[in-house]
Amino acid sequence: MPRTLVTGGAGFLGSSLCEDLRKRDHEVICMDNLSTGDIRNIEHLQGEGFSFIKHDVTEYIFLAGSIDYILHFASPASPLDYLQLPIQTLKVGALGTHKALGLAKEKKATFLLASTSEVYGDPLIHPQREDYWGNVNPIGPRGVYEEAKRFAEALTMAYHRYHGVDTKIVRIFNTFGPRMRIGDGRAIPAFIPQSLANEPLTVFGDGNQTRSFCYVDDLIEGIYRLLMSDQNDPVNIGNPHEMTILEMGQLIIQLTGSSSKIIHDPLPVDDPKVRQPDISLAKGILGWEPKFSVEEGLKLTIKWFESIQNSS
Ligand code: UDP
Repeated sequence: MPRTLVTGGAGFLGSSLCEDLRKRDHEVICMDNLSTGDIRNIEHLQGEGFSFIKHDVTEYIFLAGSIDYILHFASPASPLDYLQLPIQTLKVGALGTHKALGLAKEKKATFLLASTSEVYGDPLIHPQREDYWGNVNPIGPRGVYEEAKRFAEALTMAYHRYHGVDTKIVRIFNTFGPRMRIGDGRAIPAFIPQSLANEPLTVFGDGNQTRSFCYVDDLIEGIYRLLMSDQNDPVNIGNPHEMTILEMGQLIIQLTGSSSKIIHDPLPVDDPKVRQPDISLAKGILGWEPKFSVEEGLKLTIKWFESIQNSS
């Protein structure tokens, strides 16, 4: 049974990964300092083949025994989180990645970095291909996340080239699904609870900025295929279905049968105007493409938000 460490394993994506890896019969060690993660995300996984370690990955990591795979997912990941935790965001991208890579080298483990479409910044090339270097403002409020992930990619490639560590880099585009945190400031976990409560949807700016939203199960499948591949250069994983934020708000209102109206709040600084993955590389080398339509994914996500509201 492969033994796999997931940092940030109690977060939205980390916990989905832990769940998937358990289904694939990995022994999973989940590490999280619970700064933005939530222990309730992994409670159902407790038992044989799963363990949780509360630890800040920016501090030295000691783990006994062999480790086959390390997936480094620890980081604040919503604009609101990294505005509130700017230094931690930089530290986990830099020092945390360093510690996780050091462990991978020591254990001769395959390492996968959760990178992001944010490395492309406010892109001047559309859609974004992996060979685009991006348009990032290093000193803007989003710079803490964007630059941390860019540094993390550079460090990962350095460990690959200099130390021969088997590394993978996934550039994750906007992903949604069950276990997103209400109030984390992102569009979908803001819009769904607002719609369910028939409260106004807070669209930032005129809402004509675009994003391309991928359902979490599709993302996780793509990540697993990348982990098992021999691709060391970054790969975009996302759903190319591009829509405006206004359209997303309207679709959520429609799917929830809500009477909510849309209101406009100020657009955050450096909010990217467009974002859409070019997934030719993932299609070609991983045989991967998304299976869930945005609407199917939203229905499942809405159902989950309804269930947690009913249980609280
Ligand atoms: N957004 C919005 N209302 C909200 C939260 C976000 O209009 O309550 C906008 C945000 O300005 C951005 C888009 O939705 O243009 C996607 O934001 P999100 O935080 O989900 O992801 P990111 O900006 O990281 O792509």
